[in-house]
Amino acid sequence: MSVRTSHRGRLLLALTTALTGVVAVASPAVADPGGTPVPAAPLAAAFDTAAARYDVPRDLLVALGYAESRLDMHASAPSAAGGYGLMHLANNPGVRTLDEAAALTRLSPGALRTAPAANVLGAAAVLRSYADQAGLSATARDDVNGWYAALARYGGAHDPSVARLYADTVYDLLRVGFTSARGETVVGRPVAPRRGGLERAAVLGGVGTLSTDYGPAAWAPASTSNYTVASRPGSHPVNRIVIHMTQGAYAGAISWFQNPAAKASAHYTFRSSDGAVTQSVREKDIAWHAGNWTYNTESIGIEHEGYVDNAAWFTDAMYRASAALTRSLATKYGIPKDRAHIIGHREVPGATHTDPGPNWNWTYYLQLVNGITGIGSGTVNTESANLNVRSGPGASYPVVGSVADGATAAIYCQAVGSAVTGPYGTTAIWNRIGTNRYVSDAYLLTGYDGYIPNVPRC
Ligand SMILES: [Zn+2]
Repeated sequence: MSVRTSHRGRLLLALTTALTGVVAVASPAVADPGGTPVPAAPLAAAFDTAAARYDVPRDLLVALGYAESRLDMHASAPSAAGGYGLMHLANNPGVRTLDEAAALTRLSPGALRTAPAANVLGAAAVLRSYADQAGLSATARDDVNGWYAALARYGGAHDPSVARLYADTVYDLLRVGFTSARGETVVGRPVAPRRGGLERAAVLGGVGTLSTDYGPAAWAPASTSNYTVASRPGSHPVNRIVIHMTQGAYAGAISWFQNPAAKASAHYTFRSSDGAVTQSVREKDIAWHAGNWTYNTESIGIEHEGYVDNAAWFTDAMYRASAALTRSLATKYGIPKDRAHIIGHREVPGATHTDPGPNWNWTYYLQLVNGITGIGSGTVNTESANLNVRSGPGASYPVVGSVADGATAAIYCQAVGSAVTGPYGTTAIWNRIGTNRYVSDAYLLTGYDGYIPNVPRC
């Protein structure tokens, strides 16, 4: 906030402090007072045990779980493809990892579905059995780069490009590193996976795998058992866009639409981490996504990677990339850019699904669709301490990190939350600087008093 300079802010604070003896920053270490510690990683022991018992690289297991579920059990509810738990052990026509895990571990399918430690153990057992069948020696098992074929098989995709996408996703996580919401951390390191036969598989989005309907999209066609050929908009009007969550991971959703048993598909699917998009059904054809024939025939279905019950999947990158497609579709088909025509799956008459669910931010999405797409920035000014980053727009939300005094923060959107007093006065505006990451505007020099023009309200 504030058009006042950082220098003047420091003077004001110094004056306030001198007069009252009270500093706006309650803690000498952290600005925006309060905060709760990040909980310890409860899954650590489960991964230790599974990695040791089946001699699978521990970080490979963690990365696989992070790719599949962000290490979330989803209350043991199945994914769209019939997968369970943080490792997505699945039984469906094409994938039998749950049954295989039960046979290998002698744990019950119920335990494998519902108990996190059993779920991880089961996935490790299946991966090890695949590695053994691929002839991986005890020495070779120590090298994470040798597990590519086992990993690709675990994903269950039959299309080589999608199998490659699945395994590459896990190795990309190992290369970049990550920390889950529950604190499980994998430190990034160089990786050089040995892809074997999949080295020759086309990379989705590369030559030969591009959408002809939408430039940024890759093309990975759904099984012809999962959609209806048509010639829209000649055969049927296209008057709605239906927003979904996949209830599964990106490669898994694309793969599921290629499985003739799915009896489901969508036109487009977006990836959470970076907003990448893959098209599975041509726009002229009717995807089976809404559970309502009239709505299917007259709409475009857009899937988003993730689960309705975990906010970690709902990233700015995905919102912005999806809104760009929806904006383009609305213009192409003359669809009004409003909530009557851009709807959630749950709003379809007769819907039994709840997606995209309460974590989907409609206000933000519609602003982006309507062209309010700016990203602002601000300079952190706390006078010395680090500034608390909170999971929501208010001082009562948990602290999820910090930014250093003097750092520059990208501002994706601005929200009203609890009032905070800092170097730039008292304000209730909070700035979203990442997915579920907010800082008070009282500590940010943005060049504006209050809202920044062209930056959306959250
Ligand atoms: Zn849906």
